[in-house]
Order: sequence, then structure tokens, then C-alpha cells
Amino acid sequence: MKRNEFIKSLGALIATSMIDLKSFGNNVLENANTQLMPALFIGHGSPMNALYDNPFTKAISKTANEIPIPKAILVVSAHWQTNGTFVTSMIAPKTIHDFGGFPKALFDVEYDAPGSPEFAKKVIEQVKHTHVKDDHDWGLDHGAWTILKHMYPKADIPVFQLSLDYSKSAQWHYDLAKELNALRSKGLLIVGSGNIVHNLGRVSWDDPTTKFDWSIEFDERVKSDLLKHEHTDLINYQKIGKSALLSVPTNEHYLPMLYAAALQQKNEPLNFFYENIEMGSISMRCFKIG
Ligand code: ZN
Repeated sequence: MKRNEFIKSLGALIATSMIDLKSFGNNVLENANTQLMPALFIGHGSPMNALYDNPFTKAISKTANEIPIPKAILVVSAHWQTNGTFVTSMIAPKTIHDFGGFPKALFDVEYDAPGSPEFAKKVIEQVKHTHVKDDHDWGLDHGAWTILKHMYPKADIPVFQLSLDYSKSAQWHYDLAKELNALRSKGLLIVGSGNIVHNLGRVSWDDPTTKFDWSIEFDERVKSDLLKHEHTDLINYQKIGKSALLSVPTNEHYLPMLYAAALQQKNEPLNFFYENIEMGSISMRCFKIG
């Protein structure tokens, strides 16, 4: 090969490599945008978990460390029920201490994560099932911050919330949740925060290690239905019988579980990363989809 031919082919090689490098870079960016984020359900239990270091808080912290870093987190919390559906759209959501009778140390906790008006807008655009409205008054209730404090202690990932319309059926919520799936490919982590079994009227204050038969029965039934993808039974949970009626006397803590279940796509794995019944009538079961 003559010298000038060699230089020519070298130039062509470099040019080709640059094109390859560019397309490689584009692919990386595209992949980063199309990777499906997992979805989570967290059984949050007592607000005091915010202050504890126990097997539950260790499990949720470990899960957060194992999944890709989200661009933003959407929490569907049992503790924000509204007439209509709202999404928090403020830049800096306040920490809401929406409980009474707990130590001052719990009221002193602040979770200063930024909000995500950009992702809130995406939710409003994405959902056709209902007219989601932007909200500038709520913030982060304890269904969100008591768990996020352990999962993302630096509070450096934007967080926003979606409310539960108390006038709607379980099926309606399930259908709405499915519309949120597209946002998982944009780097959004969707977290349902409630409890599968939640009956405060039946709580065993004397023996916190008690597990009532009906709470074990319903919790195991939900576990089994989730593993079999029997969502019709989960949506029509009242038909399961007495164990369901005792476990879900009101459904605000149950519905966030349905949101997470609805996000499971075909062939996506579902793994339980924590399970326990506390104080007789609170299921702390948590699962990850994806
Ligand atoms: Zn709660």
C-alpha cells in the first residue's frame, strides 16, 4: 500500500469509527430512556418506621439500592384521598405530619426532596382514563416520606404524589394504574404505599407479634393471586369472603397495592422482598415488579 493510500484508508477508518462511536452514544442514550423501571409496593405500617432501623427498613433500603436510580418517584399513598384525581406539581413539596399522638422526634423529621412538575405534567398528559388535575397544596404525606427516608436518605431524587379518588371503584383505580405504565420507560419509579391487611380497629396492642388467622389467610391469598396474576380476584377482593372484609374494612391502604399489581407486564417477574404480619392486623408485605 502506498503511503497516500494508507493515509486515505486510515482517514476512512477513523471516520467510520467516529460514526460508530456516535451511534453507540445515541444507542446508550436511547437505552437509558427505554429501560423499564421496576414498580414497587411497600406495606408502610406505623409512621414510627421512619425512626427505626429494623428488618423492614433494611429490606426497603436494600431494594432501593438494587434497582436503577430513578429520574423521579411517583408515590400512590393510602394517605391522600380526594374527590377527583390530583397530582402534586410543586417544586418543593412540604413534609406533612399527618398523624397524632407520636413522639416529637417523628414530627421533627423533614424529607426535603424536590418535586417534579415536569413528571407531574407527563402524568396529566398520559392519563386518559380521567382528568388528572395539578395540585399545589399537598406535599409528601407519611405514606411517602416514612419509607423514602430509608430508601433514598439523601432526598436527592424528585418525588411527587398521585391521589386516590375515594368515589371510584377498585376496577377504576386498576385501569388508571395501567395507563401509568408508559412512564416507567422514562425513568419513573412508581411506588404504591399502603398495606394489604390494614385493620386498626383490630390491632393487638398487647401482643405486637400476634398474627390473626384471618389476616394470615387474606395476606397469603393476595400473595398467591399476585404470583398467579389473578388480578380479577384482587380487584373484586370483597368476594374472597370474611377474611377480606376483616382485612380491608376500608380500601385506601389496599388500593396502592392494586396500582403496583396493575403495572406488571407480561413476563415481568414479581418478587416479595419483605413479608410479616404486625400487631395482628397489619400486613407489611412488599413486592417488586420487574
Ligand atoms: Zn398508612
